[in-house]
Amino acid sequence: MANRRQIQAASKESICLAGRNVEYRLTHSQTAKKLRVKVAFDDVHVILPVTRHAENAREFLRQNEAWVIAQMDRMDRYRAVRRPEKVAGLILFRGESTKVVVFRSETWKGPNRVQLGSEGISVLCGSSSRTDPVVSLENWLRKQAKHSIQQLVAEMTPKVNRCPNAIYVMGQRTKWGNCSALGNLSFNWRLILAPEFVLRYLVTHEVVHLAIPDHSQRFWLTVQSICPETEQARRWLSANTDRLMVELKSVFIENGNLQGKA
Ligand SMILES: [Zn+2]
Repeated sequence: MANRRQIQAASKESICLAGRNVEYRLTHSQTAKKLRVKVAFDDVHVILPVTRHAENAREFLRQNEAWVIAQMDRMDRYRAVRRPEKVAGLILFRGESTKVVVFRSETWKGPNRVQLGSEGISVLCGSSSRTDPVVSLENWLRKQAKHSIQQLVAEMTPKVNRCPNAIYVMGQRTKWGNCSALGNLSFNWRLILAPEFVLRYLVTHEVVHLAIPDHSQRFWLTVQSICPETEQARRWLSANTDRLMVELKSVFIENGNLQGKA
């Protein structure tokens, strides 16, 4: 048993390739049929079938030195552009549990850039950026909220034949939305974390207040006729308030593991 472990243990080796000292891990594998080289971040790994000698690995690396060096350079370039500084956790975004990753770039000189991609939300920070990625993320979420809310308000106002005086997107701790006596509508940006039908209900609610300021039966009937998912949305909101009120800071962690309650 001890012998087998010894055979499979990786050893640290180094070799001179194209004038560069390249360190690599050498693993003798019981199962590998062919010699393989894997180049990853900070790691060159050679897997050698147990039947082959360590000198075969050196020979192979020398024969393929141009390829190995090119792979290492490619990894260095990739790391310079997209080095994950922190892997943040998950946040709710439009009702979906969404991964947030922060990248620190040596080459990016502009302000922090937040983007939604197929893998989730990425926050790209230049190496000289002083803006907290959490602040950039919140600003971006507020912008998404404002955009969606403005669209929904434009869709709803013809149905009540009223126009708001102004639309505000705010960070109220206690309220999801409000319609003032002056006809100003305000909404909590955190509604962008909720599913679309919930945002649609809240916008409908405040827009209907432009015509009917109270919570009378006429008010609720009007809301329901414009937004049939009203009851479902109200239930979702009362069940998920904690998830919408999550501190963005708390989803950013330092140790590279995913976590979050979303
Ligand atoms: Zn109301």
